Amino acid sequence: MYPQIEIDLNKISDNAKVMLEKCKEHGIYPCAVTKVTCADEQTAAALIKSGFNQLADSRVENIIKLKEAFGDKIETLLLRLPMLSDCHRVVKYCDISLNSELSTIKELNKHAKEQGKTHKIIIMVDLGDLREGIWPSDVLELKEQVKKLKNIEVLGLGTNLTCYGGVIPTNKNLKKLIELKESWEQDGQQSLKIISGGNSSSINIMTSKEIPEGVNHLRLGESLFLGRETVARNHIENTHLDVFKVKAEIIEVKKKPSVPIGTIGQDAFGETPTFEDKGEHLRAIAAIGRQDIALSMEPTSKNIKIIGGSSDHLLLEAENVDIKVGDIVEFVPEYGALLAAMTSPYVRKIYK
Ligand SMILES: *Cc1c(COP(=O)(O)O)cnc(C)c1O
Repeated sequence: MYPQIEIDLNKISDNAKVMLEKCKEHGIYPCAVTKVTCADEQTAAALIKSGFNQLADSRVENIIKLKEAFGDKIETLLLRLPMLSDCHRVVKYCDISLNSELSTIKELNKHAKEQGKTHKIIIMVDLGDLREGIWPSDVLELKEQVKKLKNIEVLGLGTNLTCYGGVIPTNKNLKKLIELKESWEQDGQQSLKIISGGNSSSINIMTSKEIPEGVNHLRLGESLFLGRETVARNHIENTHLDVFKVKAEIIEVKKKPSVPIGTIGQDAFGETPTFEDKGEHLRAIAAIGRQDIALSMEPTSKNIKIIGGSSDHLLLEAENVDIKVGDIVEFVPEYGALLAAMTSPYVRKIYK
């Protein structure tokens, strides 16, 4: 049955080992970020088998799935700031959470007390990307407040870059985290164990040795699954780029004009499309759409090109290729397409 996403578990293991090894060379112990796979259990098992013992996800539902499958074999880290209304589950299932709001940390403390636990947190610092995090100048004030919360343990400081603002991690901006750690520890009362220096966009400065000494943790998603760092999306040496393949079935093949006939208004998604007139060409329709994928996929056949897609149909130009109804076409998804395919209940997950 199609559409499918084929997941090559051996390639995931290979990528995981390569990334762990590279990080270890630089004194970094990363966690594996499972959110793009919706914390798929077999994928997570491959990551754990390859040496990851800390798994991170942005959704508590996914963390519950991981805890139920792997129990105390793994440590779980919640990536998205907890919702005030969800602190009970966060404390129950997540060993560590990333935080930036005192009111939420207080609520976590309350639930940790009720559950007889200490909840560990990493405080997120905004170094300019303008997504989550407290301003560097507010860190010491937050420290004073959090110190009073008996069921909260601050493990360290972290940052997230290259997500909203596209800000690239550098020695200069990450050094701010190290300076903040030093001022935190100045009174000699508490040391911070973790300095979490970002996501897959921090790999370049790690391999070029520009990453400041003291950064000892990264949160890796895309690099593990797609073999790319995320500043320029360059291939990371020795990793596989084609861990995942999206497969869909052809339901129509016809020669048609390359420009629609009639007056052009908006398409199915409220955009006004434009077309290049290439005369008649061979077009194929695959039975998969934006409910299942994003259009950011690379066909494995050079003679097939994605020219558009609506909710349930993917339109392909298929010149110079023998293609017929019933054929299966293959694509390597980029991040957005992978996220959608793993999330769509219509896309079957097949393991290789
Ligand atoms: C998604 C996410 C990551 C992983 O990012 P990649 O670019 O996939 O490595 C890391 N940290 C946070 C806070 C995230 O939300």
